[in-house]
Amino acid sequence: MTSFNDFGLVEPITRALASENYITPTPIQAQTVPVAMSGRDVVGIAQTGTGKTAAFALPILSRIVAQRVRPERRACRMLVLSPTRELSGQIADSFRTYGKFIRPLKISLAIGGVPINRQIRDISHGVEVLVATPGRLLDLVSQHAVRLDTLEVLVLDEADRMLDMGFINDIRKIVAMLPKERQTLFFSATMPGEITRLADAMLRDPVRVSVTPQATTAERIAQRVILTEKSSKGSLLIEVLKKEAIDRVLVFTRTKHGADKVVRVLEKAGIRSAAIHGNKSQNHRERTLAAFRDGSVRTLIATDIAARGIDVDGVSHVINYDLPNIPESYVHRIGRTARAGAEGMAISFCDFEEAPYLRDIEKLIRMSIPAENRRTGKAPAQAQPKQPHGHKTHRHNGRGKHRGGQDRSHDRSHDRSHDRSHDRPHDRSHSRPHGGHSRGNEPMRQAAAPKGEPTGIENVTFLREPSRQAGHRAPR
Ligand code: AMP
Repeated sequence: MTSFNDFGLVEPITRALASENYITPTPIQAQTVPVAMSGRDVVGIAQTGTGKTAAFALPILSRIVAQRVRPERRACRMLVLSPTRELSGQIADSFRTYGKFIRPLKISLAIGGVPINRQIRDISHGVEVLVATPGRLLDLVSQHAVRLDTLEVLVLDEADRMLDMGFINDIRKIVAMLPKERQTLFFSATMPGEITRLADAMLRDPVRVSVTPQATTAERIAQRVILTEKSSKGSLLIEVLKKEAIDRVLVFTRTKHGADKVVRVLEKAGIRSAAIHGNKSQNHRERTLAAFRDGSVRTLIATDIAARGIDVDGVSHVINYDLPNIPESYVHRIGRTARAGAEGMAISFCDFEEAPYLRDIEKLIRMSIPAENRRTGKAPAQAQPKQPHGHKTHRHNGRGKHRGGQDRSHDRSHDRSHDRSHDRPHDRSHSRPHGGHSRGNEPMRQAAAPKGEPTGIENVTFLREPSRQAGHRAPR
């Protein structure tokens, strides 16, 4: 079995790893570190939680020690681009942890939501490692606060999330400013077509590495769905929080407004919780996360974007108060639990309107999630479509109406062999934050992945045993 000593890492790093009790490299580390140490470009298909931060941080830190040069003024030797402030902060923390015996070592953070002047000062003497979100980095560049022309290594982390968040053009702008002679380490949980094209444009003869994302942890996640009415979700959440043996729970809502609403509902029921989302100040987000980490708040309500990169051990439950309309988000969400070898439970609430989302998720993860039917009423009556039976209804704005005209017998069918290109509720590009790309009716991931390449998370192994509380196969 590979050990960290086999990688030829410099002593201060192996010492730091030993002091953190890292004994065995994770699969992404075992595959990535030797390749990155050799100077080759890497495309890594891996999710957060697989240990990918160390997979790129260790070779970078090793290079800093092995090739000691003083960074020039306003220059950075290594740049890590990440989509969110939280993830950037965590990456910088990881660099500090793995580099704690390397001195001097200057690691800076360039993220939005905090005053830029301090960052300008911080970078002014040059840094070894700069961890940045794309927008803030471009602001710093436009203010001539940072130079990128002497960069040695670029890491692009969570490339697919960059795409979701509309950062692809910013990335292209940044890459255009970098020296061609550089090493690039590129990580993404999934490889949709646009990400493959971006990687092709950025990397030189890369080595592709791929891990079954969180295979060991995902197997430990017990998943279940509770079919419910939209109006009952608040009381259902209270019931679940009271009934389940919860250590720490992450509750996902689709919108910021929804997150705040859930906090209010729980407050009325005497359950302490806090929300984390893009409308909160950076300080507030950090305080909330710290409270979640130290256990003083056990229930954290989050939107997908805010939760991305939250790395808190001991999350026993993930609750999808709203199902995500992008099925990959489901995998990212439930991956927040069952970390570090712990057991985890993912419970999803699914109202009538979310039935198509559930089908998309189950198609992606290639399993049906055990369901419990708590619906009492009928599907909300909506205008019958004028088309003959079987035709798709075109809706272009917002969710909630796209199931118009479908009665429960349709819901009940839940036919996996059904050609989804005919019943996709709506083009999901309408619901994307920046809507700049269309995924069309079939996931581009499948169509666009290069021949023989792993296609993202399709090889995830999920728990298949029926859940403890799941009853019969309920209608969706
Ligand atoms: P990441 O995917 O980089 O966010 O890492 C997920 C978690 O695993 C973090 O809490 C790391 O500190 C931890 N971790 C990463 N690599 C190892 C390792 N080889 N041994 C033990 N823990 C690790």
